[in-house]
Amino acid sequence: MTRRYSIESALLPQGWVEDAVVSVSDAGVVTKIEFEAAAAGAQRIAGIVVPGMPNAHSHAFQRAMAGATEYRLSARDSFWTWRQAMYALANRIEPEQLEIVATQLFVEMLKAGYTSVAEFHYLHRQTNAAPYLGANDLWNAIAAAATAAGIGLTLLPTLYQASDFGGKPLKREQARFGMQTDEFLRAVAERVNAERRAGQGAAAQGAMVAGVIRTGAAFHSLRAVGYASLREAALQLKDIDSTLPVHIHVAEQLREVQACKRATGRRPIELLLESGLLTHRWCLVHATHATPAELQGIAGHAATVCVSISTEANLGDGFFDTKRFLQADGRLCIGSDSQATVCPAEELRWLEYQQRLRRKRRGVLASTAESHVGTRLWRDAAIHGAQAIGQAVGAIAVGRRADWLVLDRAHPTMAGSALDAALDHLVFAGGSAAIRDVMVAGRWVVKDFRHAAEAALQPRFASLMQQLATTAAR
Ligand code: ZN
Repeated sequence: MTRRYSIESALLPQGWVEDAVVSVSDAGVVTKIEFEAAAAGAQRIAGIVVPGMPNAHSHAFQRAMAGATEYRLSARDSFWTWRQAMYALANRIEPEQLEIVATQLFVEMLKAGYTSVAEFHYLHRQTNAAPYLGANDLWNAIAAAATAAGIGLTLLPTLYQASDFGGKPLKREQARFGMQTDEFLRAVAERVNAERRAGQGAAAQGAMVAGVIRTGAAFHSLRAVGYASLREAALQLKDIDSTLPVHIHVAEQLREVQACKRATGRRPIELLLESGLLTHRWCLVHATHATPAELQGIAGHAATVCVSISTEANLGDGFFDTKRFLQADGRLCIGSDSQATVCPAEELRWLEYQQRLRRKRRGVLASTAESHVGTRLWRDAAIHGAQAIGQAVGAIAVGRRADWLVLDRAHPTMAGSALDAALDHLVFAGGSAAIRDVMVAGRWVVKDFRHAAEAALQPRFASLMQQLATTAAR
């Protein structure tokens, strides 16, 4: 049955509108938008409706270490010393524990305004490094958590085969991440085929399909997957599904860029640009140390870049040149990555603040077409995030899934805001606190600031965190 919503105000692709009636199919897809004050039988939505944000890069298990590594071990602390703490957690988390952590995280994402997430998932084996026989419990834990929380998910099983350039064998602490290429391709193909069958089944029953869970694939990095293997696997992934989203960590650390150059004679992004593989299905995660020519090259291939300023700042990675990339019509999206904090408004705010601090100017990331920085950043990150995760979300438009946030106009952070400044308030002035309701695929998952699962989840999560901390101390 189609539901109709009579919306007080909304951000549509053409701009801000008042009084729209939006029809949503049973499967949660927008089928019609009309401009009228009210319609008989339509449910009234008071407030400001904006597109939910896709989170294009997440490692769910790392939520269990947020806040736990913020003390100094030595004067040389860096990404590489943080990684050791991350490995320690990665090596002891069990599937049931991962499911609790991920459910808690996904609920937090929804309440912060992320309505879908791409999970870059490289935990593949049991704690003793043996492969799972049959279904992979760790992959399934992520999917079960997404279903429990009601968030859209693109699961990106991630190929991870070496500890460094030159095909160096995995270290003992990386043993859970390892996978052979054929095993990886088979597992991805199985999931894609199962999703296809489910989609055809729904279509045969006349439902308009809006799968909230789909599979993509990722390569951990050029450090972890040699160039020749990556090329071969990428071509085969294309045969499995030509629309498959493909992600890779790239140029996050200078040391990695230099090692790549030593091993291959090319910088990592250069190598990808020359490979002939990059298309709009690819998402390059970080690209922190990209040269101007590389940024131009990525933009030219219509691939997305996913930045996570909160994580990049937390790990001391460096600055991404957002202004240059946007000037080249680069497609930028955001992710919560290490989950140090989980808030799309914060990611976007720091994209702009980083530029202000460097250039001693304001309003750096506004454009001639959109003078409001918050609107420009939110709208573009939502639509490019949708491209990156390969799901029809990211805008309130016919054919896209109804993934929306409703901002409470009565909330103090929105007080006095003109409609066209609503996203400026959200991004710059604490407006995340005004996210009152959240819809995913036409279903309310947050209502009046509450998620239905959060009360029951909280004590389970707290006791698990206690347990994980105790195991770590042992
Ligand atoms: Zn990452």
